[in-house]
Amino acid sequence: MNQELSTSIIIFGASGDLTQRKLIPSLLNLFIKGRMPQAFQIIGFAGSEFTDEHFREHLLEGAKKFAAFEFSDDEWDSFAPRLRYQQGKYADAADYKKLNDMLAGVEGGAANRIYYMALPPTLFPAIIDNLDSTGQLHENGGWRRVILEKPFGTNLASAVKLNQQVHKALNENQIYRIDHYLGKETVQNILFTRFANTIFEPIWNRNYIDHVQITVAEKVGLEHRAGFYDGVGILRDMFQNHLLQLLTLVAMEPPASFNASHLRNEKVKVLSAIKPMTPEQVTVNSVRAQYRGYREEPEVKRNSTTATYAALRLFINNWRWHGVPFYLRSGKKLAEKQSQIIINFKEPPLAMFPMQTMKSNMLVLYLQPDEGVHLRFEAKAPDTVAETRSVDMEFHYAEAFGQTAIPEAYERLLLDALQGDASLFTRADEVETAWSLIDPILQTWETHQTPPLAVYRPNSWGPTEADSLLARDGRWWMQNEATTMLND
Ligand code: NDP
Repeated sequence: MNQELSTSIIIFGASGDLTQRKLIPSLLNLFIKGRMPQAFQIIGFAGSEFTDEHFREHLLEGAKKFAAFEFSDDEWDSFAPRLRYQQGKYADAADYKKLNDMLAGVEGGAANRIYYMALPPTLFPAIIDNLDSTGQLHENGGWRRVILEKPFGTNLASAVKLNQQVHKALNENQIYRIDHYLGKETVQNILFTRFANTIFEPIWNRNYIDHVQITVAEKVGLEHRAGFYDGVGILRDMFQNHLLQLLTLVAMEPPASFNASHLRNEKVKVLSAIKPMTPEQVTVNSVRAQYRGYREEPEVKRNSTTATYAALRLFINNWRWHGVPFYLRSGKKLAEKQSQIIINFKEPPLAMFPMQTMKSNMLVLYLQPDEGVHLRFEAKAPDTVAETRSVDMEFHYAEAFGQTAIPEAYERLLLDALQGDASLFTRADEVETAWSLIDPILQTWETHQTPPLAVYRPNSWGPTEADSLLARDGRWWMQNEATTMLND
């Protein structure tokens, strides 16, 4: 980062929930930790009416409510003067001119700028066009970067189109597409578990691993997002981005180095090694379901077929993973809020001990809550001749690093964008390859209405059809085993 130049962070849609809930608390914490550039300002741009003072009060209220850390009045008072507000219309070039004039006034010369699109993606192209036509993307001495919030497209065609639109004004290395899952410490730790240790990598393949389960379960329903969610559904909301990203981190080859392009090359290779499914394969390898009562939710169509739960069975066609199923599932209104990855190893080739219960070793990466890593293995039960019992080696973040060690994902991502490190952001080809896997599933679901839409009980672990998906392979969802490990 060029420390000499002043840095402006311009947030479009700054009147919204994301700015108040996540962005400002994250920037405040970076400021308190001394990680922000020496000279910086944050400018909120949106249609709503705010004075600077009113905007600051609104953001302070949000920080008090949503920040997961303590801050003092003095800390806020030194941060707040950096915050300004510019009211304007997203489609009006004159308002961009005003923004530019205002920025030029506070920056006092060449400066770095991050434009954060914290609003619906349908507005991105117009905003980028206006920034471009008013010369604000031109790197005259300082850099220009644009952070794009999710969702990036609603299918492959719309993602390709959006990429084309933003590439008209920006180079790919100026674009930071957010998938906030990648900013989570526990998600980054997947790579560290794999590549900062020697013991896992030699067995991290089809010779030792029987299958992988990735679960991102939400306990909440639609909350305030019903209008957005109905018609979007779980595949677009969770699988195209978060679940496929988790899969790439578990499955990728070691990158040549820990830099953005090497890392993202390996992720794209994993996605490219998964074959898009035919409609027949979608019927067999996917489950779609809706929780009972979904259609009675406000703003949801009474005949909606939007899935609030999905499970997929995927195969990665490369030497490392050939024949190893990856089972992915996610849903709303499930029994618990829980994100975890289970690496289930093969059973020993034979039962050598007379009282041995055949159990597989299991490595569980708990992404949230109670973040940590647990390894299940078999031990001799004391005072028996030869009985075995499963035991657990465990690492909890809170115990090892303290309760407050885990920062908000947005904090890490904003810092990386300020420092020009795009490793934890998704690249154009990565987003499009992910959509090319999700699209055929969506099309089969929406056009052929197959597999049939299942129904599940709220506060359950999903429909029985998802159990059958694994039972056909002689397997089962292992949340009971994983929960036992966590609570022991
Ligand atoms: P909001 O719906 O609160 O929108 C932000 C602002 O954008 C609004 O205050 C409004 O500002 C403007 N806006 C919204 N919709 C329209 C529209 N149709 N036409 C014109 N202006 C509009 O969004 P959030 O702040 O919740 O989220 C922003 C982005 O971040 C979205 O893409 C969302 O998917 C993503 N996101 C949000 C998360 C969250 O926790 N909120 C979490 C993860 C991702 P005004 O009227 O003042 O111009």
